[in-house]
Amino acid sequence: MSRCLSILLFCLLTYLLGCRKDIAITSQKTPIGNTYNNIIIDSTDTSSVNHPINYLATKVILIVIDGPRYSETFGEPSHAYIPKQNLLMHDGTLCTQMYNNGVTNTVNGHTALCTGNYESLDNFGLNIPTYPSYMQYWLEKTGKASNKVWVIASKDKLQVLANTTESSYNNRFMPFTDCGNSGMGSGYREDSTTFRIAMSVLQLNQPDLLLINFKEPDWSGHQANWTNYLEGIRATDEYAWQIWNYIQSDPYYKDQTEVFITNDHGRHHDGNADGFVSHGDACYGCRHIAFLALGPDIKTNYVCRTAYDQIDITSSIASILQIKMGYNKGKCMKDIFNN
Ligand SMILES: [Zn+2]
Ligand SMILES: [Zn+2]
Repeated sequence: MSRCLSILLFCLLTYLLGCRKDIAITSQKTPIGNTYNNIIIDSTDTSSVNHPINYLATKVILIVIDGPRYSETFGEPSHAYIPKQNLLMHDGTLCTQMYNNGVTNTVNGHTALCTGNYESLDNFGLNIPTYPSYMQYWLEKTGKASNKVWVIASKDKLQVLANTTESSYNNRFMPFTDCGNSGMGSGYREDSTTFRIAMSVLQLNQPDLLLINFKEPDWSGHQANWTNYLEGIRATDEYAWQIWNYIQSDPYYKDQTEVFITNDHGRHHDGNADGFVSHGDACYGCRHIAFLALGPDIKTNYVCRTAYDQIDITSSIASILQIKMGYNKGKCMKDIFNN
């Protein structure tokens, strides 16, 4: 009799444990948002809505300065070529160990920032990213009009950032774009034009998400013009400063906006190939990029020495915006945020 009871109890216990396991698996795979039905969420993805921080910011501006070497930005001891970011770093967090660990060119660096994935896309703009960007996820989640998200770029090819081949998002939830002279295939334009358009869009459209690409200093680097390369770093430093100051003056943005200033890639360090003129390989000059974070949730006057990956920027944006990016491979940079 007692043996029968033991068997019965054993069966009951096994059944109950089995149920608990089913519940656990189900909840692990439960999608957040109705478009994730076929996606198994990567358990290493910490960009999730479960992040403990209650963010003050609801808007994110990502300024991508194209292709300076770290040795001429924050790696230069006196920050001589970036005097404005040298001031701004006291208002935010500087990450000294940020790396593009993927393909170190323009389309792939920007794609990594937008989708949280390293890809090997064509660098002339012939391919669109495989995975959706944080901008598309945000437009889907919020249902807001597409003109609340903008990609404004000196390089026409960066129009590819607006779309993805992923079937659920292809041609859907696409941000507004203003890239190059007049869109894809029209050629690069001056950064002064990009800056003017960005300021105009900020004032007239008040986007909640804005990605800005400046073509300098990459453009002058490729011309092998050291003087203009440094001037490109200085000029884009000034644009970033003016954008940040505008954010502080506009009630729609002030104290509600995170501003990230970073690069798509670096350039070859001296002694490797043609040095500052080119980029695209895995040398430390090409991989090491700058990252300065500003905003109401960001630690002030803080230097973060944690090694981070370019795709971690995407995860951090996703965390701020409380969106779940099913394909994102990065992790949230928790130590740049106020506790
Ligand atoms: Zn670039
Ligand atoms: Zn290199």
